[in-house]
Amino acid sequence: MSFFHTKIENLRGVGSQRATLLQKELNIFTYGDLIQRYPFRYLDRTQFYSIVDLHEELPYVQVKGILRNREVVGEGPKQRMVAKVSDGSAELELVWFKGVKWLQSIIKNHQEYIVFGKPTIFNGKPQMAHPELEEVTEAKPGQSFLQPVYNTTEKLKNYHRIDSKAIARLVFDLLKTALPHVQESLSPALIQHYGLMSKAEAYQQIHFPQTPELLQAARFRLKFEELFYVQLKLLRQRDQRKITLAGQFFREVPTLIHFYKNVLPFDLTGAQKRVIHDIYKDFCTGQQMNRLLQGDVGSGKTIVAFISMLMAADNGAQSCLMAPTEILADQHYVGLKAYADLLGLKLGKLTGSTRTADRRVLHEQLRSGEMHMLVGTHALLEDVVQFRNLGLTIMDEQHRFGVAQRSKLWQKNPNVIPHVLVMTATPIPRTLAMTLYGDLDVSVIDELPAGRKPIVTVHRYDANRLKVFQFVRDQVTLGRQVYIVYPLIEESETMDYKDLTDGYESVARAFPEFQISIVHGRMKAEQKDFEMQRFVNRETQIMVATTVIEVGVNVPNASVMIIESAERFGLSQLHQLRGRVGRGAEQSYCILMTGYKLSKDSRTRLETMVRTNNGFEIADIDLKLRGPGDLMGTQQSGVLDLLIADLAKDGRILTESRAAAQQLINADPGLANPENLNIRRHIASLPATAVNWSRIS
Ligand code: ADP
Ligand code: MG
Repeated sequence: MSFFHTKIENLRGVGSQRATLLQKELNIFTYGDLIQRYPFRYLDRTQFYSIVDLHEELPYVQVKGILRNREVVGEGPKQRMVAKVSDGSAELELVWFKGVKWLQSIIKNHQEYIVFGKPTIFNGKPQMAHPELEEVTEAKPGQSFLQPVYNTTEKLKNYHRIDSKAIARLVFDLLKTALPHVQESLSPALIQHYGLMSKAEAYQQIHFPQTPELLQAARFRLKFEELFYVQLKLLRQRDQRKITLAGQFFREVPTLIHFYKNVLPFDLTGAQKRVIHDIYKDFCTGQQMNRLLQGDVGSGKTIVAFISMLMAADNGAQSCLMAPTEILADQHYVGLKAYADLLGLKLGKLTGSTRTADRRVLHEQLRSGEMHMLVGTHALLEDVVQFRNLGLTIMDEQHRFGVAQRSKLWQKNPNVIPHVLVMTATPIPRTLAMTLYGDLDVSVIDELPAGRKPIVTVHRYDANRLKVFQFVRDQVTLGRQVYIVYPLIEESETMDYKDLTDGYESVARAFPEFQISIVHGRMKAEQKDFEMQRFVNRETQIMVATTVIEVGVNVPNASVMIIESAERFGLSQLHQLRGRVGRGAEQSYCILMTGYKLSKDSRTRLETMVRTNNGFEIADIDLKLRGPGDLMGTQQSGVLDLLIADLAKDGRILTESRAAAQQLINADPGLANPENLNIRRHIASLPATAVNWSRIS
């Protein structure tokens, strides 16, 4: 057991009561946990705002001044502590609503403080609620240039005196004895090549930096190491799986050639051809394919899926394509069945609403091998669905499926694990994809079919609705169709339903001359299909819907997408919705409707949509706005529990560390070279994780 596994209660100044608190509140169990609890910011004792310059747009700022007029006002739950700080330029009011008693014992009048907090303006005067205070003392020689600030909890701070400063003291004491025990975890070659600080020095400098430059170097070193080990693990797993998991060979392609020559009504784009080639190469290796196909909405992923299915069929294997919604499964089925029929291949559909009698026939055809291809929803995961020889499984709009559901598909062939192709149109920023899907091979379709006109996107206020409706009327008169989408938020389904039905009624009133479809999540599948089908057949001109139409639906004649309460949608969702139009030859439009009152983030989202059609650019901005934890499907993955690196900001370090990991694996796959002893030893010291990576996706 290493020094860093020592229990935290053994640290001087901790004891059993404090240890329990540190465990419960901050998840700090060992010396290692404490050392790796890096400061979340630093107090720079040289940078201060003048109080007179404070305004509400400022983020967290630091001022320095003398505290006066400390008093407790109010009674009971309204009780609060107020004080004033003056720096000669103006006065700043401070207020605390919690921990009043404790504050009384520590805040002193006439003392000079460094005050840190978010300024607001109240009655024309600057104010700060719950600021942090730091007594100004003479800087001691040798003291760190920047003071570390640690996250703690209200409970620790207010009732147990374990504030940031107390943690800093613990870390300081620990570092004194810990440094000799720190083992370098990167190889001398890596350290030299990337000019990295040593690990021991990085620990010292990240907590108590002597200069901003040293802090920068420490940060870089620790982020690099963290991302390097994530990537090394993912890449090794990918290679491991390739060695151990066999996949069927799909080398023969006679039907595919016939399809290209005689059936396919358009030319594939260069990007589609490239991706198909990637897939074909995988099929010729004898190893199981695990490939992620990313492509912006409308880039033509479905045909790539179908061509892959043809390769399977040409080699005696069955394939299935799983879609997240019934509507989408239907649409794939209708589109692909036309091709399959022309090729003499049997393609079936299985969804929740397939009738029992049909189901029985289908099950039998799948077991006998008579059915070559299957399109469906998660209904095809059920255990009764068995294949004679499933060779390829494709998941469309992959982020909608849970990990457990996905792994079920693997078990559908007891002899050879099927190849897996995962398709997503939710553009995942590159940095995130490298981490979330780092163990998959990735192909990207970065080109739209020729002749597509970029969608014109505008933002309009609700007050201009009449004009917008007139535009709708003009477009429909020209023969186009229009989507009007209302938000759907899970927590208040009833309210959204009301929004939607109110919306439907007002649309119906505004356009008595047009036929209108309505589709929402509460409808039965058959009803939905019926309405959808009417729209596809052009029997209706306007489709009023919730986000159920977000995914994949393809109606080339629809050229206008109106999104109501657009501020309530996330960026990637807006982009998905917009992707429902712009699929035909006509100029398409996306109109984002909102009220006048908008938050800063909402404005950024709307402006981004108006400015660009590029899904990857949008994804990057989305990541910056929301942070990786909020992006779809990332919470469950566990790969984002990073201590210091930030996927939204550290893209460059991630790319470098991944390249370094790949290079290491190529040069020394078994990590047997004595040069790499540090790395081997570090991996051995890592806790084994419960996640079985090879089974994800
Ligand atoms: P997505 O990538 O969003 O799933 P789809 O596969 O639904 O996109 O394709 C969108 C539309 O583009 C479909 O109507 C499809 O037939 C058409 N399409 C796909 N590839 C091409 C191409 N190379 N040339 C012209 N049209 C294409
Ligand atoms: Mg699609």
